[in-house]
Amino acid sequence: MFARSLRTATRVSRVANARAFSATAGRMNDYPTVEKGQSLWNFTEEENMLRDSVKKFADEVIQPRVREMDEKEIMDPELIQGLFDNGLMGIEIPEEYGGAGCSFTSAIIAVEEISRVDPSVAVLVDVHNTLVNTVVRHHGSDAIKEKWLPGLAQEKVGSFCLTEPGAGSDAFGLQTTAKLDPSGDFYVLNGTKMWISNSGEAETFLVFANVDPSKGYKGITCFAVSKDMGVEIMKKEEKLGIRASSTCVLNFDDIKVPKENIVGEVGKGYKIAIQILNEGRIGIAAQMIGLAQGAFERALPYTYQRKQFGKAVGDFQGMGFQFADIHTQIEAAKLMTYNAARLKEEGREFTKEAAMAKYFASVVAQRAAGSAIEWCGGVGFTRDTGIEKYWRDSKIGAIYEGTSNIQLETIAKFLKKQYA
Ligand SMILES: Cc1cc2nc3c(=O)[nH]c(=O)nc-3n(C[C@H](O)[C@H](O)[C@H](O)COP(=O)(O)OP(=O)(O)OC[C@H]3O[C@@H](n4cnc5c(N)ncnc54)[C@H](O)[C@@H]3O)c2cc1C
Repeated sequence: MFARSLRTATRVSRVANARAFSATAGRMNDYPTVEKGQSLWNFTEEENMLRDSVKKFADEVIQPRVREMDEKEIMDPELIQGLFDNGLMGIEIPEEYGGAGCSFTSAIIAVEEISRVDPSVAVLVDVHNTLVNTVVRHHGSDAIKEKWLPGLAQEKVGSFCLTEPGAGSDAFGLQTTAKLDPSGDFYVLNGTKMWISNSGEAETFLVFANVDPSKGYKGITCFAVSKDMGVEIMKKEEKLGIRASSTCVLNFDDIKVPKENIVGEVGKGYKIAIQILNEGRIGIAAQMIGLAQGAFERALPYTYQRKQFGKAVGDFQGMGFQFADIHTQIEAAKLMTYNAARLKEEGREFTKEAAMAKYFASVVAQRAAGSAIEWCGGVGFTRDTGIEKYWRDSKIGAIYEGTSNIQLETIAKFLKKQYA
C-alpha cells in the first residue's frame, strides 16, 4: 500500500518535473533581435560629455567642501547654486522649460559621478531630478509644467514627500489628508511627513495625501505645494551618513492648496508613487556604484605607497585578490545599473532589473567602502582620508526608496510569476 502510493507520487512528481523543466517553462523575457549587439559600456557623445563635465565639477567644486559639509551637517548654498548653474538640477527637463533636455541615463551618470565624490550631494541631485522633476514632467498638466518646471530647473530645490511616521515600507498606509473645501476651489492639507530628503533647502514639495480615506490607497493624490503656502519644517534628523543632505519632519496644518496643483489625477497618486519609485531606484543604484568607485579609488593609491615588510602593502597577493574581487563586484553593479537605465529608456519592462540593481549596488557599496577602510589600516579609520565617510554613507542604500527586503520581495514576485 505504502509502496504503491509512493510509486504514484513519484509518477505525479515526474510529470510535474517534466513540465517544470520543459523548454517553455519560465521563459518570459522577450529580448529584441538587433542588427549588431553592443556592450553595456556604450554611451552617447552627449552622455560622455556630461560625464566628463560632472566629474570635473565634482572634483573641483564639490570635493573641497565635502568634509566641512559632513561635519557641519549642511549643504553649502553656493554649491546648490552651482548645481543649478551647471544644469544638473534639470537634466531631463526639456529646454523649453529651462532644463538641459538630456536622457535618463545622463541623470544616472550625473548621480554616479557626484556620488564618487559626495553621496550627500548625489542624493540631493537624484531626488530632485529622478523623483520630483520626473513626476511633474510625466504627470503634470501643461499648466503644471509651465508653472513648476522652470523653477525646478533653475532655482528651486524639490522634495518628494511620501513617507510618514506610521507609513514607511507600507507607504500607502499614509494618514495625511487633503479635504476638498466646500467652495470646490482648494484642498486643505493636514498631516506629518517624515524622512524627507532636501526638505531643509526645498521650496517645492510633491506631497502625497489622501482625499478620501474611505477609499484606502485609491484616495491618494499628488499635490505640488510651495513652501510659502505654509509647509513647516520641523525636526532635522541627525544621521549616521549622508549628513550634509537634510532629512526633516514636515508638518502641514490646514494648508490651502489650489485644486490646480494636483499632479496627475485625483486618486492616482499611488500609481504615480509606484511608477516613480520603480525608476527612482535606478538613481539610488547609481548613487551606490559611484560611492563604491569613490571609496575604491581613494584607497588603492595609498596601498601602493604604504610599505610594510619591505614592500607596498598593495603588492601582497592577499591584498591584490581583494582589490580584484571588489573591482569585479563594482563592475557587475555598474552593468546592472546601466542596463536598468537603458531598459527604462527603451520603454521596456525594468522593474525587476531596477530592484536587482539597487539591491546589489547597495550591498557592493557597503562591501567596497568597508574593505577600503581595512586596506588603509588605521589611516582608513580616521576622518582625514574621507574613506570612513563612504562607509557611513553606504548604509542608506539598503534603506531608502524601498529597503533591501522590499527589493527582494519585488524580485521574488517576478520569480514566482515566471516559475510558479
Ligand atoms: C536618510 C533618509 C532619507 C529619506 N528620504 C525620503 C524622501 O525624500 N521621501 C520619502 O518619502 N521618504 C524618504 N525616506 C524614507 C524611506 O524611504 C523609508 O525610511 C523606507 O522606505 C523604510 O521605511 P521605514 O524607515 O519606516 O522602515 P520600516 O518600514 O519600519 O522597516 C523596518 C524593517 O522592516 C523590514 N520590513 C518592512 N516591511 C517588510 C516586509 N513586507 N517584508 C520584509 N521586511 C519588511 C524592512 O526591510 C526594515 O528592515 C528616507 C529615509 C531616510 C533614512
